[in-house]
Amino acid sequence: SAKKLGGGNFSFFSEELRRELDYRKQLEQDIRTAIANKSFEVYFQPQVSLTSGKISGIEALVRWKHETRGMISPGEFIPVAEKCGFMPDIGRIVISKAIEEAAEWDRAGIDFGRIAVNVSGTELREPDFDAFLFGTLERAGLAPQKLSLEIVESVILDDEKTGIAAKLRHIRAAGVHLELDDFGTGYASLSHVNPNEIDRLKIDRRFVQNINENGDNTKIVRAITELARGLGISIVAEGAETEAELDSLMAIGCDQVQGYSIAFPMPQDKAREWLLARSPKKAKLKVLRGSLA
Ligand code: C2E
Ligand code: MG
Ligand code: MG
Ligand code: MG
Repeated sequence: SAKKLGGGNFSFFSEELRRELDYRKQLEQDIRTAIANKSFEVYFQPQVSLTSGKISGIEALVRWKHETRGMISPGEFIPVAEKCGFMPDIGRIVISKAIEEAAEWDRAGIDFGRIAVNVSGTELREPDFDAFLFGTLERAGLAPQKLSLEIVESVILDDEKTGIAAKLRHIRAAGVHLELDDFGTGYASLSHVNPNEIDRLKIDRRFVQNINENGDNTKIVRAITELARGLGISIVAEGAETEAELDSLMAIGCDQVQGYSIAFPMPQDKAREWLLARSPKKAKLKVLRGSLA
């Protein structure tokens, strides 16, 4: 018993631990139910060019509204889902919903650049991931050129043995774009920052925040931007929250941004409105005619 093993501190700790384990077990069960009900939602956050104002892409981000606990952030439930082997199922719900929504925008003539989805290593390692992806695009009627996959550096490194590299080449050859997410936080060798493998780098938020006040971040973002430009890879800064950060990014010449200063991640209806408000007249007419028909 706790007492035998050494008194009050231990039993206090073990009660904390028990509560934590109970919470995780409950969360696990709730994730299982949410998968069965497909109750994960997708929010969308636009990425824009600072020079042209044009939309270059829009990122799909999973959201989970728990019945009793309210919104649970991906940072909280994804690690649990990964550990329990649920991430491939959750990923497929998100990817299907994101691609279906993008296909609807496309049919309505609403410009969104590309729909970007996050894909983890466990999702990619599923033997039929590429078949699932192509099947989903085809059923939805969306061209592969309108899709982008966001992958973190460690997944790119974990390549030849697991067959992920070959799978990614196959997917990219079909026209899907590949992006290195959270760039600068992992340990990708520069050999992977290669225009034959990667279409875009996403500079991690930690280098973008307070960029105006922080000399080191300014130097890092400038160096990454110049590296990417030299190689012919596009670049987007993540998590730009303020006007001052946008000004610094523009001064450095980092063209594309994503962050609260442009738009928060939005539910489907809001995202559609946001895109439509920025779409050319042609799209608006098309949508209007659709609603009149
Ligand atoms: P990420 O792919 O790097 O996504 C960017 C995160 O930054 C998102 O957090 C977004 O809401 C947040 N963000 C955007 N702009 C700002 C800003 O200006 N300031 C701040 N402070 N944050 C900003 P979110 O939605 O909580 O997602 C966290 C992470 O969870 C994602 O990081 C991604 O790694 C993972 N994730 C989210 N959805 C999915 C998914 O469908 N599948 C997979 N495999 N992973 C996902
Ligand atoms: Mg991402
Ligand atoms: Mg990121
Ligand atoms: Mg991340």
